[in-house]
Parts: sequence; structure tokens; C-alpha cells
Amino acid sequence: MVLYSPGRTSSYPTDPVDSGIRIHFLGGGDEVGNVGCVLEDKTGTRILIDYGLAPTRPPRYPSECPPIDHAVITHSHIDHIGMAPWLVGHHGTRLHGTTLTAAVSEMMWRDTYKVSSIEGYPLPWDMRDLDAALGAWETHDMGEWFEIGAWRLRFHLAGHIPGAAMIEIETPEIRLLWGGDMDTRQNPNVAGAKPVKCDILCIESTYGGREHPNRLEEEARLVARVKEVVSRGGLALIPAFASGRCQDILRILHTAAPHLEVHFDGMGTRVTKHWMNNPEHIHQPEGLEKVWRWARKVRSKSDRKKALEADVIVTTSGMLDGGPAIWYLNRLRHDSANAILLTGYQAEGSGGRSLLDKGSLPIFGNITPVELEVSQFQLSNHAGHSELQSFVRACEPRHVVFFHGDTEAREAISAEFTQQPTPSLPLNGTSLNLK
Ligand SMILES: [Zn+2]
Repeated sequence: MVLYSPGRTSSYPTDPVDSGIRIHFLGGGDEVGNVGCVLEDKTGTRILIDYGLAPTRPPRYPSECPPIDHAVITHSHIDHIGMAPWLVGHHGTRLHGTTLTAAVSEMMWRDTYKVSSIEGYPLPWDMRDLDAALGAWETHDMGEWFEIGAWRLRFHLAGHIPGAAMIEIETPEIRLLWGGDMDTRQNPNVAGAKPVKCDILCIESTYGGREHPNRLEEEARLVARVKEVVSRGGLALIPAFASGRCQDILRILHTAAPHLEVHFDGMGTRVTKHWMNNPEHIHQPEGLEKVWRWARKVRSKSDRKKALEADVIVTTSGMLDGGPAIWYLNRLRHDSANAILLTGYQAEGSGGRSLLDKGSLPIFGNITPVELEVSQFQLSNHAGHSELQSFVRACEPRHVVFFHGDTEAREAISAEFTQQPTPSLPLNGTSLNLK
């Protein structure tokens, strides 16, 4: 599948930059996920930030990246790293990220490759590109300055997930902070992001215009729901994303209800091992070690059958689009004492969305009615409207660029800033030039 004709399909302009910085979104400007953004200044220094794909069906890809020597990767979610092997395979790009981002990326790429072959959707990179990408990482600690061309850069804790970084960029003219996916609130596995003073702030706007419920109250509501299901003799099936949400759920349950028998299955188990190998990125890593020993890991088919007798199963996929969650759901759906607890956003077209809207979803290819009780919890690790607003003010930028959000969200957060800082709402495929 040819998605791009290298050198011919890029929307990136060919003229040099006079002053300030050019910010050009290949993807993720006016949408959630699918991020890729080129930054360049008059010194000719040019970097790409993130190169993902949106795992919708079929996936969405950012437009073609121009030749680029260095890409800085904020974190290991697939909508930020999914296309990085293409970059390395075609442009020999070096990838910069934290040690944990680099460690988790391999599993994310392999999984993407596998899913693309099974489902037959196009992926413009192959296993050779993936192998090359594994050798392309240059890892950096939080707070450690490194140089690319005429610029100095360093990572700051972004909250969101362990290993996720905001990027502070110092050019000869300006200081820019790239927020990436971020959250200023403490979550069970990572501390919140702190503001960094800058001239230009580029920040996500996923939750512009929307406030999160109080995090601790929402966690308590989840625990109460689990206890209710277990006390009536049921099993609580908790589908959760592999990188972040699974581990958050386990820590919440371990703290509030350690007597429960909780089984842990799916890709999240492998992600957790990487987290434990990189404890400097984890909030209170000894707590995670305890949770790991406490939860029963599902390692075989017979373990999976045993898990059907548990109180709780935490597993992927978080949107009920496959993975062990579907296998369990198929077994559990006949006993109305069981329940499904959804713990994240359920995208349009996903199994979880179909279950919420229609009471049925595809199970092994057949649309199947599921009559179990379904509840949903908001445990997002993205900043909500108020958190975004306070963070922007505390960074004291001259300009703020709101990306990674739909139109409504971006307009809502941008409406809070009318004079200083001046807001920009970039569109994919067009350049902003800010001084
Ligand atoms: Zn993310």
C-alpha cells in the first residue's frame, strides 16, 4: 500500500523561514490524536514532534513528513508514535524520547503491525522499518538539556502516562513549550505536569469546554460499583487501555479493596513490566510493585478459564474492540449478576460505543446482544478545561496554540484567551509563523 509518494505528497512548504518559528501540523492540529508537527526556524533547524496514526477503523494517518533528521516523541501512545517506523525507514530519522517511551514503543509497533495484517488495513511501513526504528532511539532524562541543530531541548514531566514528556525548546529567538498529551492532576501512577515559563505554548485541547468529575470521587464510585457486583455473586469485567488505564485501575482497587481477587490479562501486563524496569518515571514505584504481586496475571489458557471465577478482571481492549476482553465478555454475558465497567472514552465505531448505544457489539465477527449492566467511569489522564486554563496562564506565554482537539473543544478553551496570550487554532496542512 502506497500512502505517500515520498517528496511529492507533503504539505510542508519549501520556502525558508525569515524569523520566529514555523509550526506546521501534518496531523493532530484540528483533531484528536494522529499527531505530527514540524517546527523550523531561520537557522534551518527543523524537527518533527510525534508521528502517530489514529487507530480508528480504518486508521487516519498524518500527511507525509518532509525529510527530517530528528523527531522528538512525547509518549508511547499509538496516536503519537504509530508512524515513526516510516520516518526512520524513509528518512533515517533519529528518535528522541524518554527511556520508558522507547521501551514501550516496540510493543506498540508490533501490535499495530499485527492488527493491520489481521484486519487488512494499510500500513506504509514494514518489519524492516520497525527494526530500524528500534535502533534509532536517543533517550534523554527528564530535565537534561540536549541539542538539535541550533536549538537546546529538555523534557519535563507531562503527567498523562509514565514516561510522557513535555518538550521545552530554546531557539536563538524564542522559548517554546510543547505540552503533548498532558494532565496537571496527580493520577495513581504519575504526578501532574508543572507549568514552564515560555514565549509560545503549544497545548492539547482534548477536553476544552469540558470539566472532569472530581478524580477521587470518581475512583470511589468505581470501587463501590465493583463491590456491589461482587457482593451479589457477579464478576466485574473492566476493559481498560494497556498503557495507563489498566495500571491506574489496579492501583485504585488495591488501595481501596485489597481483599478482592483481581486477575490481570492482556497487553497491559507487558507494559507494566516496562514501567517497573523504569521506576524513575513512576509515582511511588514500590506501590506498583505491590500491585503487580497482588494481581493474578493471566499467562495461559487455563489461567484464563480460572479468571472466570475471580471478582474482577482488568484487561484490554479498553474499547471492547478485541483482545481478551471479548473472550471474557462472551463467557460472562449469560449471567446477569456480572457487569461491565467501562473506564475510558469509547470512540465512534468501537465495540464499547456500540454496546452503550445499541446493547450489542461484535463478538468474534457476530453482532451479539449483551444484556449485562454497563456503567462508565471518567478516569481520563488529560487535563480538563479548568486545568488547561490555569496551566496556560501559569506558563505566561505570548502565544498559545491549541491543537489535538475537535473544533468545539478548541473554540471553548481558546475563548478564555482574548488578548494575552493570543490564541491560534491551527489546521492540518497549513503553517503558523509565530515570533
Ligand atoms: Zn496519549
